[in-house]
Amino acid sequence: MKSKAVRLLEPRRPLVDAEVDAASPGPGEVLVRVRAAGICHSDAHYRAGVGSTNRPLTPGHEVAGIVDSVGSGVTTHRAGDRVCLHYLVTCGTCSDCRAGREQFCATGQMIGKDRDGGYAEVVRVPARNAHPLPDFVPFEQGAILMCSSATALHALRKARVGAGDTVAVFGIGGLGVSAIQLARALGASAVYAVDVNPAKLALAQRHRAIPVDARAADPVQAIRAATGGRGVDAALELIGFARTMEQSVEVLAPQGRAALAGLTQERMSISPYRDVLNREAEIIGVSDHLASEIGELMTFVQRGDLDLAGAVTRVVPLDAATINGVLDDLEAFRDDVRTVIRP
Ligand SMILES: [Zn+2]
Ligand SMILES: [Zn+2]
Repeated sequence: MKSKAVRLLEPRRPLVDAEVDAASPGPGEVLVRVRAAGICHSDAHYRAGVGSTNRPLTPGHEVAGIVDSVGSGVTTHRAGDRVCLHYLVTCGTCSDCRAGREQFCATGQMIGKDRDGGYAEVVRVPARNAHPLPDFVPFEQGAILMCSSATALHALRKARVGAGDTVAVFGIGGLGVSAIQLARALGASAVYAVDVNPAKLALAQRHRAIPVDARAADPVQAIRAATGGRGVDAALELIGFARTMEQSVEVLAPQGRAALAGLTQERMSISPYRDVLNREAEIIGVSDHLASEIGELMTFVQRGDLDLAGAVTRVVPLDAATINGVLDDLEAFRDDVRTVIRP
């Protein structure tokens, strides 16, 4: 079977339209007909040659669709099942996998980075990566749940956000719009949403976050002023700028936790005494998320705690020129919160 795909042949070059052989699912695998694939800022990084990827590659790690066929030995899935894909393919048996740190699996592969992903009509994955997608979650939302929402939840868990905590979220993109809602669902008493884009600040406000316009004032001073000088218990950096990472540390209250999830190779600079030691602050790295967090996410969606209806702002066809344009927009930090491909 031939499948249409949009592929990365070499870094720093536009993605191209291609036809690929869609092999039937092997033992333990499922072939999924893609109904929605999110276009993520990470994909712009891969196209730009930041982070090593397999090549040629079909990008796309935010995928939801319908099971087309199953390989031998698969009893958990049937053709026609609605699924969304956990993007980390791990061995399940190494010490990291067994300890629940599967993102560090030595032989782990990321769909859409190390192996072909969802910028295609079909994608082949191990059956255990295909999680049930409830009927009440549209495919477009199911796709973005699998990256931005799942990673936002993981960041909040790493920052140990709980009842009564105050939280600052730097960057109201795909992750941020989930993070502000999930922070409330986890019991945060106030969520400050920092961005420079008026549309994103307005979206944050609609989700009951307190908008902080970083163009109008220094966000650290603004949040300190709003919290009586104390700062916040947890800060999430979801952009990938050294400056906002520094701010996410500077804005912490005593024993506050800064969780850094934005990707950058810049170096950050903080004052160890003032910002970390003196406050017993913690700086925590966030890498991906866990399969176990996906079921939890669906529960938040089901309860109405996580509404992504406003998060998917654009739907585009499986077409290289259009997708390259979306990646250009992401690189330039233009308005779109999330664009999804519908093959
Ligand atoms: Zn992503
Ligand atoms: Zn492993």
